Amino acid sequence: MNDASAPPPAEQGEMPRVFFALWPPAAVADALARAAKAAQRACGGRAMGAESLHLTLAFIGPVLPERLADLRSAADGVEVPGFSLTFDRLGFWKRKGIVWAGCSEPAPELGTLADALSRRLRAAGFVLETRPFTAHMTLLRNASCRGEVPQMDAVRWPMGEFVLVRSRLGAHGARYEPLAIWRLEKTTAPDQ
Ligand code: ATP
Ligand code: MG
Repeated sequence: MNDASAPPPAEQGEMPRVFFALWPPAAVADALARAAKAAQRACGGRAMGAESLHLTLAFIGPVLPERLADLRSAADGVEVPGFSLTFDRLGFWKRKGIVWAGCSEPAPELGTLADALSRRLRAAGFVLETRPFTAHMTLLRNASCRGEVPQMDAVRWPMGEFVLVRSRLGAHGARYEPLAIWRLEKTTAPDQ
């Protein structure tokens, strides 16, 4: 029998639910939140607020607290140069009801970063999603776009770090809490 007062399974036994992500700086998050609101006018659903927008690199799920140090060690060994992404297109996953922002020309470093992190996490015994990494930022949930998916103004995001985040699931969506941050290597070329 369901008990509405029971915590969601991921929070039972104090196993924090965690994932690695790229987290946008405020100006980028604000621009993407505006794109989410604009898309919501066409597709309905729940728009992600600027404070919640992120790009998931590797989803771990509920983890034993004593394994958090192993997550950090795995991420410590990731050496990838900083890069930029330009989000310039919206997509719609009908079955999931998700409208997402993506890049028509994703920087190859994004895949390199996701692969390097996943490889090290798997080597440390963490079980990850086996589907190939698809770079996307969820803008709307429970959306239903009829006809053409609306388009968005391009948003450029200079990427200098990635984060380990705790997700606390609630009735009105997840709340995210950063646990640790890793700087990407500085590139020699100035970021235009
Ligand atoms: P909610 O589950 O309440 O809708 P959420 O999906 O944002 O909120 P989580 O389920 O904790 O919160 O997920 C955190 C991040 O990891 C989100 O970006 C989510 O899309 C992604 N994610 C969740 N489950 C998986 C999975 N099995 N594989 C890959 N990414 C996942
Ligand atoms: Mg989820």
